[in-house]
Amino acid sequence: MDDYIMALDQGTTSSRCILWDRNGRMVSKAQREFRQIYPKAGWVEHDPNEIWASQLSVAMEAMAMAGVHAREIAAIGITNQRETVVVWDRHTGKPIYNAIVWQCRRTAEQVEQFKEDGWDEILREKTGLIPDAYFSATKLAWILDHVPEARRKAEEGDLLFGTVDTWLLWNLTQGKVFATDYTNASRTMLFNIHTLEWDPEILAHLHIPQQMLPRVEDSSAIYGVSDAQVLGAEIPIGALVGDQQGSLFGQCCFRSGMAKNTYGTGCFLLMHTGEKPIQSQNQLLTTIAATRNGKISYALEGSVFAAGSVVQWMRDEMRLFQHAGDSEKYAKAVPDTNGVYMVPAFTGLGAPFWDPYARGTVVGLTRGCSKEHFIRAALESIAYQTWDVFEAMQRDTGMQIRNLKVDGGASANDFLMQFQADLLQGSVIRSACNETTALGAAYLAGLACGMWKDTEELAAMYQAGQTFVSKMPFEKRNQCVHQWHRAVERARNWAEEESK
Ligand code: ADP
Repeated sequence: MDDYIMALDQGTTSSRCILWDRNGRMVSKAQREFRQIYPKAGWVEHDPNEIWASQLSVAMEAMAMAGVHAREIAAIGITNQRETVVVWDRHTGKPIYNAIVWQCRRTAEQVEQFKEDGWDEILREKTGLIPDAYFSATKLAWILDHVPEARRKAEEGDLLFGTVDTWLLWNLTQGKVFATDYTNASRTMLFNIHTLEWDPEILAHLHIPQQMLPRVEDSSAIYGVSDAQVLGAEIPIGALVGDQQGSLFGQCCFRSGMAKNTYGTGCFLLMHTGEKPIQSQNQLLTTIAATRNGKISYALEGSVFAAGSVVQWMRDEMRLFQHAGDSEKYAKAVPDTNGVYMVPAFTGLGAPFWDPYARGTVVGLTRGCSKEHFIRAALESIAYQTWDVFEAMQRDTGMQIRNLKVDGGASANDFLMQFQADLLQGSVIRSACNETTALGAAYLAGLACGMWKDTEELAAMYQAGQTFVSKMPFEKRNQCVHQWHRAVERARNWAEEESK
């Protein structure tokens, strides 16, 4: 009995459920996509009821697939798309507006105004974030400003705000538990990561009533039990964790200096920095890592905008090959890029350059450049961009780090992983499990319910896949990075005022 952990992984495009056994092995997995709603250019919404319905249906499906009854599940761990905002009526449980998704740009102007009012530094200091429409704060304010009666109802205590973890928890417990965890709270731009409270000054500035906010707890904690009607038995809910912090935990990066990179459409790089928050000098975000036993630890986070999407672009727009995986074969067919560098700044450059006006460039072309060189330069650009973020983390922390744990779709590319190891002059360790986010949520829930004792036990269960060790001489690496930075200079500040 009680032999399984259920991880609910509520992502941006799909809801997934994975069941894990005591050895941390995947037993079954179900997935369902749901609707993306684009009411206007730059706006993105989800239907919160569809989020909940899809999550519930995959949970039932994963149990049925494995022949596991709810009574055999020791705990549920929830991991989720971060920053997305849901507001619902406390009495009816009905959302008063669609979920405003993290990608949604509708509040970009409010954020600019916020900064012009002198809040840029204050927000960075308090929340660890670089003020942006991406985070929850201005999205929540938007709902209160635009839905009739919303602000009055919120002030009277009739409305609740949650990120997706909170929304799922509230539904699983049929309205009995209203809470979130530190990792999700730290992405709202409403939470003070030093005092560990919803920040009264920020709330006052945005006219957000405190009573609509959930209480904040450890990522690994027993939050309550799912209602027996929902999954067929009461199951303790043992974890809430934002997706990137979930994967940091699933990759067993438990201590300062341990880092992971997820190579998806873009890259998400997180480095555990221990018990003190580090304020970045290089445009990285300071965020809270998964917590347990009341012990707060922090991470630095940086992202690369164009990573796997560069491969998609070569496949779909350049039509250079049919399958993303083919890129590896082409890249390996030549010994180098023949001096070609590609900077895929399709939507500008992120940390540490932070240049929204940069655009994509290919430099160093000669008559000898072949398709293979071009593809190789594109794959190398993913590793160079990752290296720049990683280097920024080393500068901010003053640590020399030689290992990087990796996951995500494009981490399947051996050429890319080897080149990444070459740039790091260290090791790239690919996880054997390609569901590290859900695994992180399962680990945290398993710790909360006592299935696993401590992180040492988890680390012993960790299964590395292939490890890539640097083969490139140090001098050669420095020369490559130098050339890459010359190419980046040429991509910067390209877009004209009108297209900015
Ligand atoms: P997301 O979660 O962002 O949708 P995934 O982790 O599913 O991303 O990864 C998909 C991305 O990985 C796509 O952009 C795809 O182009 C890229 N990709 C998948 N396989 C490979 C490969 N073998 N080599 C390079 N890129 C790949």
